[in-house]
Amino acid sequence: MAGLPYIVGNWKMNGTRAMLNEARAIDRAAARFPKVQVGVAPPATLLYRVRDAVELIGVGGQDCHAKDSGAFTGDVSAPMLKDAGADFTIVGHSERREYHGESDADVKAKAEAALSAGLAVILCVGETESQRDAGDAEAVVGAQLEGSCPKADGAPEKLSVAYEPVWAIGTGRVPSIEDVAAMHASIRGKLVELYGEGGGEVRILYGGSVKAENAAELLAVPEVGGALVGGASLTAESFLAIVGAAA
Ligand code: PEP
Repeated sequence: MAGLPYIVGNWKMNGTRAMLNEARAIDRAAARFPKVQVGVAPPATLLYRVRDAVELIGVGGQDCHAKDSGAFTGDVSAPMLKDAGADFTIVGHSERREYHGESDADVKAKAEAALSAGLAVILCVGETESQRDAGDAEAVVGAQLEGSCPKADGAPEKLSVAYEPVWAIGTGRVPSIEDVAAMHASIRGKLVELYGEGGGEVRILYGGSVKAENAAELLAVPEVGGALVGGASLTAESFLAIVGAAA
């Protein structure tokens, strides 16, 4: 697996200009952790300001539209994210899949638009609790990858996959280390099936209730190449504790 451990904060629909102080503090501290790649995905309203406030860390969107422009009220396109200074965008987060009805085909189109705009992509996949209880977790995630992995130029080189069990997001619950290891191995196998050798280099992040207390253990699991962090990314202190665990 290539690259430095990658720790990304997803601020979701949180943050006004006061959050710029957190971004600055994360950026200053990132200099102490040169062996960790750090990114934050603020809400779109803050993207430009965060970009201006930081030097070392990456900045990204949380979603993008599949089209470059047009009559899509309220949406933000990949070229717009790029123009605002984004380095990457998240696509296919389970909250988008659930609350906005995004299908695998939608997610794939968004990922391809992002790559075409020159953005790196963090593509989220993950099973629900009932799917895991039914023993279907790996099949569900495999099907999500088959349906949503981009085929555009830039894939797989600029692609990361975030495995985020839906039932672990924001709940304080995390899968067992064995289950994380099994799922990440299964995702690796699917990526190699889809992309050949290049699939072996895609970073696979774990996401879902990552905190300072569990980060080191999760990040030590084979094939866990980093973490996508929601709640614990909202203060520099809690986020940097996770960055520190990855160093
Ligand atoms: C997320 O939504 O991407 C996430 C991982 O959230 P949390 O860390 O709060 O579980």
